[in-house]
Amino acid sequence: MTRNTLHKEVVIIGSGPAGLTAAIYAARADLKPLVIHGPQPGGQLTITTEVENYPGFSKGIQGPELMQEFEEQARRFGAEFLVTYITEVDLSERPFTLRTDEHEIEAETLIIASGASAKWLGIPGEAPAPQGLGGLGVSACATCDGFFFKGKSIIVVGGGDTAMEEANFLTRYASRVTVVHRRDHLRASKIMQDKAFRNDKIDFIWNTDVTEILGTQETGVTGARLKDTKTGEDSVFPCEGVFVAIGHKPNTDLFKGQLKMDEVGYLITAGRTMATEIPGVFACGDVQDSFYRQAVTAAGTGCMAAIDAERFLDNLPVPMPSGDEITMEGELVTADHQLIVLPDGEVISNNAEAATEGASASGD
Ligand SMILES: Cc1cc2nc3c(=O)[nH]c(=O)nc-3n(C[C@H](O)[C@H](O)[C@H](O)COP(=O)(O)OP(=O)(O)OC[C@H]3O[C@@H](n4cnc5c(N)ncnc54)[C@H](O)[C@@H]3O)c2cc1C
Repeated sequence: MTRNTLHKEVVIIGSGPAGLTAAIYAARADLKPLVIHGPQPGGQLTITTEVENYPGFSKGIQGPELMQEFEEQARRFGAEFLVTYITEVDLSERPFTLRTDEHEIEAETLIIASGASAKWLGIPGEAPAPQGLGGLGVSACATCDGFFFKGKSIIVVGGGDTAMEEANFLTRYASRVTVVHRRDHLRASKIMQDKAFRNDKIDFIWNTDVTEILGTQETGVTGARLKDTKTGEDSVFPCEGVFVAIGHKPNTDLFKGQLKMDEVGYLITAGRTMATEIPGVFACGDVQDSFYRQAVTAAGTGCMAAIDAERFLDNLPVPMPSGDEITMEGELVTADHQLIVLPDGEVISNNAEAATEGASASGD
């Protein structure tokens, strides 16, 4: 198939809060970034209703509206967009090659902001409203939505660390939190289990699957249908909220074998920068953050990734996950800042005085 070829200084995969913030910064630095929208233009916030914790909106804002504002801000400074998704990447040399069904894109720097998706149960009633009750009592994020469940009875589905953390957090708001778990013991670490067992607002229902979330668009969630995994017996548990806490899957299949990931698949970045171990490839937002998973943190790291890419394109050293710093021309400054390894392998001192002495001794 013939594909259109594009060459860009900065390509951003993803248009959630991380990707669009990176686009705003890169566009204002006159780098004319190209943003690839992917399968969910605007990212995860487009499937939620009220966002109350994004700074700057004292009365809250609807998720889709917030993301529209991000996009318009990026467009205002010259960011370009493609409504397609990346099917293949080759990061073995720069410029990196990215493919969509219609395009071959060469990127001098790449910012990966492809996010992560909450794992869902795949049961009736769980889909976002209006197909289901998502946003009307069904959630996968206690930090985001817990506030809406003041004085309500809710269930948390899952048995790992995420579920225990969500359950404990939700007791700040809910009148009662019931953890429904399909086995007779938890997978969570001991410290998280102990915390949940000690919390007198948390109950447990063991050996039980949630098979349907009940309610209507008018009432929101009114209950959950449960099935005992041992006896097969069905029952209905009345509640006003269901938090699905069975983990997240980072959208990183594209990068398998090319970029370092943790055991779940989250990309590894340097931390104090958003650099991956491939010079010129940066990652930001939920795709590299299994911990905070918030729009504002995603946006913050998007800003960092764009500044890193800008520095890299200016041939300034950018700290990598190893602690070493690398420039676009391939000069590596060791983590202790003592040595510079040149692209041809020659090692010189990074100490200005030593370098000057060396130069005078050699008569330079
Ligand atoms: C229902 C819900 C409610 C939430 N409520 C809140 C809240 O109230 N407050 C809050 O702070 N956080 C909330 N969050 C969390 C917040 O949405 C995320 O932390 C945030 O969206 C992460 O931003 P991101 O840019 O890293 O990734 P995402 O928003 O996940 O965006 C990922 C982007 O990558 C694109 N992409 C993926 N694969 C490809 C590909 N192959 N090619 C091209 N593009 C690709 C997608 O299309 C998407 O545009 C909520 C999440 C959910 C699911």
